[in-house]
Amino acid sequence: MPEIPGNRPYKESSAGLSPKANASCSACGLCADTCPAGVIDRKNPKMTDKSKCISCMRCVAVCPKHARKVSGFMTAVAGMAIKKACSFRKECELFL
Ligand code: SF4
Ligand code: SF4
Repeated sequence: MPEIPGNRPYKESSAGLSPKANASCSACGLCADTCPAGVIDRKNPKMTDKSKCISCMRCVAVCPKHARKVSGFMTAVAGMAIKKACSFRKECELFL
């Protein structure tokens, strides 16, 4: 068994960044069709199961109306939380 660095047990993700659809949403359903976690309601794309959202932002990227957004406040909070860990470059490591 290779020895892989890291702190265990791994922490649960707590980013809490779940995009919401605003009034520009045309209910086309594209975000629901492409969400990898399947947490956007196809019949009502404004409904998202935040507890299962993995904060990948695919729905934001694919929305043709630019209707899905994350709260600026929550983005700022998440930015502060990861600032220390992401303030220096980490080289890639390969384990074979
Ligand atoms: S992709 Fe955009 S416009 Fe289409 S349902 Fe989702 S949020 Fe609404
Ligand atoms: S951020 Fe990712 S997981 Fe969350 S609703 Fe959008 S596409 Fe789905």
